[in-house]
Amino acid sequence: MAEKWMDALVKAKPEKGLVLQKMPVPEPGPGEVLIKIHKTAICGTDVHIYDWNAWSQEHVKPPQIIGHEYVGEVAAMGAGVSGLYLGQRVSGEGHITCGRCRNCHNGNIQWCKDTNSVGVDRDGAFAEHLCIPQSNVIPMDPSLDEDVVAMFDAVGNATHTALMWNLVGEDVLITGAGPIGIIAGGICKYAGARRVVITDLNDYRLELAKKMGVDAAVNTRQEDLHEVMKRLHIVEGFDVGLEMSGNGAALNQMISVMRNGGKISLLGLGDGNVNLDVNLVIGKGLTLQGIYGRKMDNWHQMSYMVQGGLDLTPVITHRFHYTEFEKGFEAMHSGKSGKVILDWSK
Ligand code: NAD
Ligand code: ZN
Repeated sequence: MAEKWMDALVKAKPEKGLVLQKMPVPEPGPGEVLIKIHKTAICGTDVHIYDWNAWSQEHVKPPQIIGHEYVGEVAAMGAGVSGLYLGQRVSGEGHITCGRCRNCHNGNIQWCKDTNSVGVDRDGAFAEHLCIPQSNVIPMDPSLDEDVVAMFDAVGNATHTALMWNLVGEDVLITGAGPIGIIAGGICKYAGARRVVITDLNDYRLELAKKMGVDAAVNTRQEDLHEVMKRLHIVEGFDVGLEMSGNGAALNQMISVMRNGGKISLLGLGDGNVNLDVNLVIGKGLTLQGIYGRKMDNWHQMSYMVQGGLDLTPVITHRFHYTEFEKGFEAMHSGKSGKVILDWSK
């Protein structure tokens, strides 16, 4: 059969930027599914790859299609694929795991020892088509807004981090009002938290967080967190902390305002070298939980939360056609954006 071609956003050379170019449409092999992409969302990781920072120079091998947040439909199925149908609305888990290690066996695929990331280690979703194993394809109810499903990979990070702990009646501190922190704010309120306080140093993003229903959005350069806690009657400290900035100062501030016995989940990735007062962690009896990726069950939880009324649309601030991808990355670089959606329909 003659090769078919598609438009794709490619890290073509080991240098800054991306190129919109023709790439061959992948052929689904046994057990694989070809997805026709409808919409994609830009993640911070894509911005790192665009910028060609040290991390991406280590992980991405040009030429490669990038992107891992998407929604589309089943366009073709390889041998042995069953239970899906052509035209079915789908998204997909971006970590392609070995299926054989201890964590894959016990259902914790997010901790697979041999994981492969779509759009980082292999061709991604910023293209008219994407090919992935059936085990990573997640059917999506057609009633869900496609712009929202396009960013479900990131919503899954927020769901994983937030739902790690009981939230009912609890007071939650989120450090970092990036898109994931903002989404987590909405999830915590939806899941029954009493107070949700989010911090950042960027007022545009704090305003966005307010639209998700948080009780306070605090610029810690301008406002004292202890005053905010007093105002909200948070007496003994926060019960739950979600670190979503990757900033060491934010983590230390969080530790200082947790109640004894509090639970912290750590999602934010920074340079990794953080000075911690371990004696304080011990004295307070805090639990620190690292969060990586998503659990497969998070895909179900987020679909159901959205169907149950969780409105995530306020976090979407920009929408462009894929041919205007430069404007999308410009918005992401500006600091004045939430999620940016790219439309792949013609
Ligand atoms: P983002 O970079 O858009 O948001 C981080 C926010 O933290 C920014 O708005 C920034 O202004 C804010 N911030 C910086 N210093 C701060 C401080 N001292 N106090 C409060 N806020 C501060 O990132 P995002 O896309 O929302 O993702 C959140 C974090 O999660 C990032 O660090 C990202 O790398 C990480 N991440 C981890 C995983 C994982 O699997 N562990 C997956 C996705 C994203
Ligand atoms: Zn594995």
